[in-house]
Amino acid sequence: MNFLSLIENKREGKILAPEQIQEFIREFTAGKIPDYQMAALLMAIYFRGLDTAETTTLTLAMRDSGDVLKFPKDKRPLVDKHSTGGIGDKVSLSLAPLLACLGFRVPMISGRGLGITGGTLDKLDSIPGFKTLLPVEKIIAQVQKVGCVICGQTDKMVPADKKIYALRDASGTVPSIPLIAASILSKKLAENLDALILDVKFGSAAFMQTKTDARKLAKAMVALGNQCGTNTRAILTDMNTPLGCAAGNWLEVKESVECLENKGANDLRELVIDSAAHLLVQTRKAKSLAAARKLAEDCLNSGKPRAKWDEMIVAQGADLKAFNRKLTLASTAKMVVELKSEMAGYVSKCDARIIGEVIRDLGGGRFTKDSAINYDVGVDQIAKPGERVEKSGTLCRVHAADSVQARNAVVWLKTAFEISAKCLAKTPLVVVTIR
Ligand code: URA
Repeated sequence: MNFLSLIENKREGKILAPEQIQEFIREFTAGKIPDYQMAALLMAIYFRGLDTAETTTLTLAMRDSGDVLKFPKDKRPLVDKHSTGGIGDKVSLSLAPLLACLGFRVPMISGRGLGITGGTLDKLDSIPGFKTLLPVEKIIAQVQKVGCVICGQTDKMVPADKKIYALRDASGTVPSIPLIAASILSKKLAENLDALILDVKFGSAAFMQTKTDARKLAKAMVALGNQCGTNTRAILTDMNTPLGCAAGNWLEVKESVECLENKGANDLRELVIDSAAHLLVQTRKAKSLAAARKLAEDCLNSGKPRAKWDEMIVAQGADLKAFNRKLTLASTAKMVVELKSEMAGYVSKCDARIIGEVIRDLGGGRFTKDSAINYDVGVDQIAKPGERVEKSGTLCRVHAADSVQARNAVVWLKTAFEISAKCLAKTPLVVVTIR
């Protein structure tokens, strides 16, 4: 193929033909296009964009660059959720077993954290014995038997995205809506889903900082998912404040188990139930969102998803005794220090970005793809906006590897909180649904 003229065409704002897109994805995946030329094309796409048909072709070509999961015929619909990421976002952990108990199959292929936002696989790695890397046959067998799996992408799934994403990262072309949408959707479509719910976050700790940008991305992804044959919806959710009251890998697993036991944070429970409810409506298992919420809530209250969680982690190699022992510990980190409020009042701000940066610096996140992670560090007992605190009351607790890091974290965390005399009106967590 004449790749140079293809770059020039896109540079001039021309539309690429489907065959051209399919061919450059095939050739690039096979190592036949040099990185410098692909980077030039990505930059041309960044400035000129892709139309709906081009984005659809790109997404399907990326999906088909590797293995697509193939499941036996079964009346249980295949569903999943994707979140654009945030602080304390542990919804997937409670949602997968809940969905399995609601009669779905959930092949949840997840990712690792980079920068301040956490990754589902890193959280699961804090469970003794748990395996996140599974061969395709095992993924399929577990979905059929248990109903859910949460694991990483195999080497053979969507290799085009892996190569393109690495180049985008190194060429300043990540923030392009068609490229983001194609990247996210190609991976989800490789799961062969009937329905997908997208949680697109906006706010200080989100990939998209403003509601307007989040809405644009959500609309593009919903249109793309539906165009590619998967019933897709998105919810826009607030990521100015962490989700739940704990952030950090092991602390989030603990909070997810609490959610499955109907204890703990209301916002986390709300988002888990809402995500399940949309999928129930999308797959026509419920007639309305209200009826679907009730179904999801009753199922969560039944305790069955908590038992399903144990079944899932055991199927993936977890040592249940060691896991249960770990759950009983107040902390697994060397040092726990409280941040106390200097005045009485109501929390009016609890900045997710600062909390995420603190956790990353404590060792709970990655600066580069190869950074080692400390699973035990993090922040919990986070006081959320609208909560009353007394003078010397707890704003949060820091779990750190040593006292110096704990002290530094406390100083920085002080800047994440604002206290006011009046209780300000609560901002909604789920702002809008995009169908
Ligand atoms: N997550 C992805 O998987 N791809 C992107 O392009 C951005 C976020």
